[in-house]
Amino acid sequence: MTTMTQPADQQVAGGPLNDAQTQLREATTILGYDDGLHAMLAAPRREVTVSIPLRRDDSRIELLTGHRVQHSLTRGPAKGGLRYSPDVNLDEVRALAMWMTWKCALLDVPYGGAKGGIRIDPRQYSQAELERVTRRYTSEISPLIGPERDIPAPDIGTDENTMAWLMDTYSAQQGHTVLGVTTGKPVSLGGSRGRATATSRGVVQVALAALRSRGIDPAGATAAVQGFGKVGRYAARFLAEAGVRVAAVSDQYGTTAASAGLPIPAVEEHVDATGSVVGFACGDQVDDLLTLDVDLLVVAAVEGVLHAGNAAEVRAQVIVEGANGPTTPEADVILQDAGRLVVPDILANAGGVIVSYFEWVQANQAYWWSAAEVEAQLADRMTSAWERVSEHAARLDLPLRTAATCLAVERVAQAHLLRGLYP
Ligand code: GLU
Repeated sequence: MTTMTQPADQQVAGGPLNDAQTQLREATTILGYDDGLHAMLAAPRREVTVSIPLRRDDSRIELLTGHRVQHSLTRGPAKGGLRYSPDVNLDEVRALAMWMTWKCALLDVPYGGAKGGIRIDPRQYSQAELERVTRRYTSEISPLIGPERDIPAPDIGTDENTMAWLMDTYSAQQGHTVLGVTTGKPVSLGGSRGRATATSRGVVQVALAALRSRGIDPAGATAAVQGFGKVGRYAARFLAEAGVRVAAVSDQYGTTAASAGLPIPAVEEHVDATGSVVGFACGDQVDDLLTLDVDLLVVAAVEGVLHAGNAAEVRAQVIVEGANGPTTPEADVILQDAGRLVVPDILANAGGVIVSYFEWVQANQAYWWSAAEVEAQLADRMTSAWERVSEHAARLDLPLRTAATCLAVERVAQAHLLRGLYP
């Protein structure tokens, strides 16, 4: 038996946690909160790091590292995705957990915020290995999770199979089936209709509203979409269905573009066949999708892609954050000064956690809604959140992110103050 270990956790200077803390500091300053309240809002409530020994298919043992961070439990159970990526580290998970708290508060779903991650490149592992990793991680964090405690969901590198294994492992430990311990499960196993496309539906709904707010008619507008995973793929599809000309899409391997508009269903077929958007026939050459001359840029990949080094080159009037944390605070200032409209992650990509909430409600009640019901209720919540944030931003002359963060942080702070301190 040989043993392989990963390098020790590396904390990133700057990075997503710094960005999340900068955004929170700005909000608590505007809200006039004292240092004590700020500190309560800034610190994770609980965090756990676990070792995950994996027996690989060739019998070698490899030791992986996983985290679960519960940033807040103040408004309800913690809620947030589980990420499998070689870039996962504790500070990234802390930032993502904090953003979940603000997202749930902004959309008024009765949850705190959490995030989990395992530092692993899932493409290098078989399905059987990923199942063993998921089961061991679930077992290690099981004292912390549950329908009333903390409810994981898919994120980068995980999917409905991951959630089925997680649910099964937790249920086996409890001795009965507990559907409400995760969301994003397969529809045939207690998942919700409409969950798989929910984030993208919400992204496109606010993107169309944002274009109209700028006097741009979506029919005939142009767009570029960074990321072709769970969010970007359906965002591109729904944008095209709404009449937007999707001129470029990208994934981690490269970009495919056509200034006349890409035939998205054909691109999807190409991705299903080859695993990437690269090599799609009839594509133009594009150096940098982020700086294309389009009306709308949807960033649906990872954190920190719009930064001080490239924000000034962005030409899209409207930027919509399908990913969590794609714009650094320095880039926000540059984009704001250039008159760009940035629709922030905690609003733009909230469709996923909204339908996760619907899934949890359905699982807890063992009563299932139709796809039409899910989509109508999702659309209602996205519309009212968009209107509330836009009005608040206009009234106080704030960027949308600052307005959204203030509204969310205020809601969490009010819950803290009403509950009081124990003891
Ligand atoms: N991972 C998604 C997000 O970042 C969904 C979280 C959830 O549904 O709990 O919002």
